[in-house]
Amino acid sequence: MGSPETTRSIGLLATGGTIAVAPPTTGNQDHVGVAALTPPAPDLPERIEVVPRDVLGRSSRKLTVDDLWTLATAVDEEIAAGRDGVVITHGTDTLEETAYALALLVEPRVPVVITGAMRSPHHSGPDGPANVRAALVAAADPSLAPYGPVVVFQDEVHVARLVTKMHSARVAAFASPAAGPVGFVAEDEVELLLGPAPGTDRLPRSNPPTARIGLVHAATGVDGSAADALTSDPGTVDGVVVAALGAGHVSPSLGAALVRLARAGTPVVVTSRCPDGALLRETYSGGGSEMDLRRSGLHFASTLSAPKARLRLLFGLSAGIPLDELFPTRRPVRG
Ligand code: ASP
Repeated sequence: MGSPETTRSIGLLATGGTIAVAPPTTGNQDHVGVAALTPPAPDLPERIEVVPRDVLGRSSRKLTVDDLWTLATAVDEEIAAGRDGVVITHGTDTLEETAYALALLVEPRVPVVITGAMRSPHHSGPDGPANVRAALVAAADPSLAPYGPVVVFQDEVHVARLVTKMHSARVAAFASPAAGPVGFVAEDEVELLLGPAPGTDRLPRSNPPTARIGLVHAATGVDGSAADALTSDPGTVDGVVVAALGAGHVSPSLGAALVRLARAGTPVVVTSRCPDGALLRETYSGGGSEMDLRRSGLHFASTLSAPKARLRLLFGLSAGIPLDELFPTRRPVRG
């Protein structure tokens, strides 16, 4: 925890989203950035000095992977400028993906905190000011740096790998189903409950993203045509991520199509559409089972959600990192 006397300089990078909507604007979340947040928190502890900057003034649904690269560069610039921490305000719809992209791209030398709002500033009970305030307090605490980028929402601290938007409208929108928050903010202090996760998600920051990754969502009756459609024109995609059923299963028809793809050299990465739990290795067999898919050369993404695995594959392939390093296999499937 930082000494209360030490002044902490925090870079505040504003993108768009509900947190950045200014009256009388209602639907448009594109153009108002830092101005909507001034002062970001009137009762902020004196030790926290805020240096605001507008970066990408648009709703999170409009952000591209190039924008994520731009944002990572902006975070690096803030760190290079000597900031003690960085806060990013962001639309909530893709906030968890941006948090994970920063976990891939930014060396966590200082705390990097992402937050947003579910209610715009001119609605009753706006949550943006309180979220920004808590995020600034968190970013001022150097003990958060080793956690990599974190999401602070409703005074909870969530790591980028695990956090997800659980509710489409309530202010308590974010959770980490696998482990819960790693800490919380109370009375202008961060209280940590869990240590940083082992390992790192970081990738070398060499090339801007160029790879195109398709996403297939498994469901009852979703067959091989879902994968075939993605790859009907050669060169349409460089890789495919599957949000599989349960512990890593798809219909036999979809499984066969994915295996064809993998055998033809297209990276295929399996995740689960369940928000929590492991991908199995050797429990179920037969067409479309985890054993079938693993033995046929598909890669499995451990606990990453499909959107986050897609970013890992996208940035990793763009940087020329081998698939086995991006999604390592702990041990081969028996039999
Ligand atoms: N549509 C908004 C966005 O993600 C929603 C929000 O910020 O809560 O940009």
